[in-house]
Amino acid sequence: MQLNETSDNRMPRVAIIAHDGKKADLVAFATFNRERLKRCRLTATGTTGRLLVEKVGLAAECLESGPYGGDVQIASRIVEGVIDAVIFIVDPLDKHPHDPDIQTLMRVCNVRNVPLATNISTADILICSELLWSLESEGPEVLAG
Ligand code: PGA
Repeated sequence: MQLNETSDNRMPRVAIIAHDGKKADLVAFATFNRERLKRCRLTATGTTGRLLVEKVGLAAECLESGPYGGDVQIASRIVEGVIDAVIFIVDPLDKHPHDPDIQTLMRVCNVRNVPLATNISTADILICSELLWSLESEGPEVLAG
C-alpha cells in the first residue's frame, strides 16, 4: 500500500479479520465503535471487509478472503511496517484450513511488536487505547517497537 503524504498518514492503520464463527461479534463490535473506526485507515480480509463496508458503513480496503491468502497479505503489510494494530477475532472452537496462514499472521505481529487483539474484550481495550490515538497527534512511530 502506498501511503500518501497527507494528514491521513496519522490515522491509525488497523487490520481487521474475523473468523466465520465470530463475524456477528465483530459486526457488533464495529457498530458500537463505528465513530472510532471511522478515524482509522482500515484493511481487512475479504469477507470481513465487506461486512464492515456493507453492514457497518465503514470504509475499508478489502484484501483476499482469509482462506485464499488474505491473512498472508495482512502479514506482509505488517512486515512492510504499514499496519499499526491488528484486530483478529479468532474462533478457537473451529478448525481452519488456512491455519498455517493464521499462525504466520500472529507470529509476524509478535516478531514486529504490533498490537494484536484476538478477542472482542481485547479489541475493546485496543480501540480505546491512548497509545493508538496518540498516532493522530504524534505520528506512526509511537507504536513502533
Ligand atoms: P474472511 O477471512 O474475512 O475472508 O472470512 C477471515 C479468515 O478466516 O481468515
